[in-house]
Amino acid sequence: MQPLLLPVTLEFLITATWMVLGFIGVLFISALVLPGLERRGYPLPNGQTKDYKLYGMTFFFLLHIALGIATFGFGISLAPIVHHFWSLFIVANVLAILWSLALYLYGKRNGPVLKSETGHDHPLPGWVKDLWFGNELNPTWLGVDLKMFMYQPSLLGVYLIVISFAYAQFERHGAITPQMWCFVGFWFAYLFMHYVNQEFMLSTWDITDENFGFMLVWGDLVYLPFLYSLPGFWIIDETTPFSTLQWALLTAFFLIALTLCFQANWQKERFKRDPQAKIWGKPAKTIGGKLLISGWWGIGRKLNYTGEVGVYLSFALCAGLSHWQPYLLPLSLLLLLTQRATRDDRKCRAKYGPLWEEYCRRAKFRMIPFVY
Ligand code: NDP
Repeated sequence: MQPLLLPVTLEFLITATWMVLGFIGVLFISALVLPGLERRGYPLPNGQTKDYKLYGMTFFFLLHIALGIATFGFGISLAPIVHHFWSLFIVANVLAILWSLALYLYGKRNGPVLKSETGHDHPLPGWVKDLWFGNELNPTWLGVDLKMFMYQPSLLGVYLIVISFAYAQFERHGAITPQMWCFVGFWFAYLFMHYVNQEFMLSTWDITDENFGFMLVWGDLVYLPFLYSLPGFWIIDETTPFSTLQWALLTAFFLIALTLCFQANWQKERFKRDPQAKIWGKPAKTIGGKLLISGWWGIGRKLNYTGEVGVYLSFALCAGLSHWQPYLLPLSLLLLLTQRATRDDRKCRAKYGPLWEEYCRRAKFRMIPFVY
């Protein structure tokens, strides 16, 4: 059997560079020319608003058409993505460093640059903070908001790696196991839910408050695609198929977590757009007209995060229980989101003052009842 992972050589690094740059280049050109939803963002720290073109669903749809034609029309396999995993990983890291340096220099250009200071009260030298967190909130190039754009190579990138595990499994074992179908299907459902109401992203912390620097660029280009696809390595050669009961229970758990995650996100988004919006069939209840306490937001302050960790636990569970490594994925997300919840809490306490204190009294926990 051919080895799954090819070694890192100069030749393969060049191949990987073409793959990464070609992928991002095609997406960037598509962002310029393809239609998307036109939506106004939420007030930025300077009180102004920004208009966005949201093209994620268009990309997601076209990606499936392109994959169908490539696979069934031309017999093209995505397995080389897995074979070149390490070369792609190295290229993505180098690109993240170069891109962050370019953004740092771009942010220093003459002219007005909107920068967020929210949550950046670290005792670090200014230039380190500027490189790490970024020195511009919404860098825009050729009319494309770069922070919003980078979600596409990130999300579609992880999806391509996940699908490529299925292609590679088929090549190695002549079949695709139910757990591999679950892994790919869960990712499809998660991304579909993300894209079907992609406006919700506009009210998220990254878009409204986070500058675009190394932290987000590396997260988009490296952390998300390469870490989040990791369980695939422990699914690919597991040829004993899940029983019907196993995959049915796993799918039920996944759907509950997915519903919690997206319903919570969409409830907040609906409320931000229209404070009179109905949540679970009743008019939204608020604190001071600003903080939603209906729906999931009246139970816990970060149940969208809880649902998201549940979704990632489902990805790991596709690899079964005999290996610990796939569980690094939900564990790392749990650490990331608990740290983020603490930062967001600090931001909201400073922004909403007594209203936030009142909210914390009503919705007592963030993610896990009695624990956190
Ligand atoms: P939230 O969507 O929870 O946004 C937090 C902001 O929402 C707060 O800063 C505040 O902003 C507002 N807010 C908080 N509570 C209330 C309330 N009760 N009523 C009204 N507004 C409120 O967090 P994120 O942006 O971090 O996350 C969005 C999604 O992205 C989540 O599902 C999360 O799990 C996911 N995510 C996924 C990651 C991954 O790697 N998979 C990484 C990070 C996030 P304001 O000041 O505008 O009111």
